[in-house]
Amino acid sequence: MPAIDALDTNGLVDAHCHVDLYPDPMAMLRRIEDAGIHVVTVTNLPSVFGPNVAIAAPYDRVHVALGLHPELVKSHGHEISVLRELLPEAQFIGEVGLDFTTNDRDEREHQRAVLGNVLTWCADAGNKVLTIHSRRAASDVISMIGTDYPCSAILHWFSGSTAQLKRAAAAGLYFSVNAGMIRSKNGQSLIEQMPPECVLTESDGPFLQTNRCPAEPAGIALVVDYLSKRWDRSYDSTKALILANFERAMARGIS
Ligand code: MN
Repeated sequence: MPAIDALDTNGLVDAHCHVDLYPDPMAMLRRIEDAGIHVVTVTNLPSVFGPNVAIAAPYDRVHVALGLHPELVKSHGHEISVLRELLPEAQFIGEVGLDFTTNDRDEREHQRAVLGNVLTWCADAGNKVLTIHSRRAASDVISMIGTDYPCSAILHWFSGSTAQLKRAAAAGLYFSVNAGMIRSKNGQSLIEQMPPECVLTESDGPFLQTNRCPAEPAGIALVVDYLSKRWDRSYDSTKALILANFERAMARGIS
């Protein structure tokens, strides 16, 4: 692996980062700006969307997403009404999705109901880009999105099967891949199956840890370096391809 400092970060894409969960979000925003990275900063609850928009406002390349994390649906499901109210203000939606590490039937149903509403409201608005969690629930998530969804949908940290991946790619969904995936055998073999035009990159920081430190947007340079070798392209052209994918996802979100 090359030294990360040797890789140009300008124009990298971080399609799923939790900027508000770093110890110093303001410092992280300045670092993102200095590094020239396009970042989707997701929120876990609709009630923190406004404060995140306020701190990110000066940064052109930072997009705040409006979310309700599936693992918080049980305790904060009532915030769905806040999400609905704020929806017109957000182009990016996330983190939303399903997390079936719970075996509780009612909780799974509650998560399905919330995601179903979010998908419907976004489809009605027609101008959204969604970043979606699907741990142990890839099949359900892909079925709920369907094959002709009118907004752009990004499966963040996809960990389903190859067959599910193919269904998702055929439905025009994107995958945002991270440093954890390039280090795992399963992640590597999934990435191998992804059509390059469906691939985006993410840090999922600070949740994802690399070398016992929280992942950061700049660390995506190593993910791009990995992809460039898999795809037999230069680092710069791989970075440009991912940015083009991101811009296409956003344009579909706008139309
Ligand atoms: Mn996340």
